[in-house]
Amino acid sequence: MPTCPTCRSNVSEPLRTWPIVKAEKNGEIVDCTVGIYWCTKCNIKFPFAVGRQRLKLIETDKLEELHDKIKMVGKVKQELMKKVDQLEQEKAIVEESLILARLEDKAENLKVEISLLKEVKRELESMIKYLDHTPSLKVETSKQKCIDQ
Ligand SMILES: [Zn+2]
Repeated sequence: MPTCPTCRSNVSEPLRTWPIVKAEKNGEIVDCTVGIYWCTKCNIKFPFAVGRQRLKLIETDKLEELHDKIKMVGKVKQELMKKVDQLEQEKAIVEESLILARLEDKAENLKVEISLLKEVKRELESMIKYLDHTPSLKVETSKQKCIDQ
């Protein structure tokens, strides 16, 4: 918003405006609209620039080259996005098969545990058989002995 250089009050409507395009020392071009504003309090007119835009002169060939590069980068980006999607899918498949492999490992471990338990059971059974065939340790036989006496 243009302000009066004397009293600092805002002046919204210009008396007249015209576009200005000027070259800066660094090669940039400044494009803006200059307006003549009138402060009713101070009764003075002052210029004020609005819509300042910094532009750069560039050869048409170079501009087209840049456009082509932007297009290429866009294509590369799309291809990369596709690849990322593919990798995500592959990752999901690998994770699934990893879970399966872990389950298979668990099943294998359980099989080993079961065979161990079976062995322990067999040992216990043979121990029971041995105890059954040792008369002195049999409750019934000791009872029998009591009756005999
Ligand atoms: Zn003023």
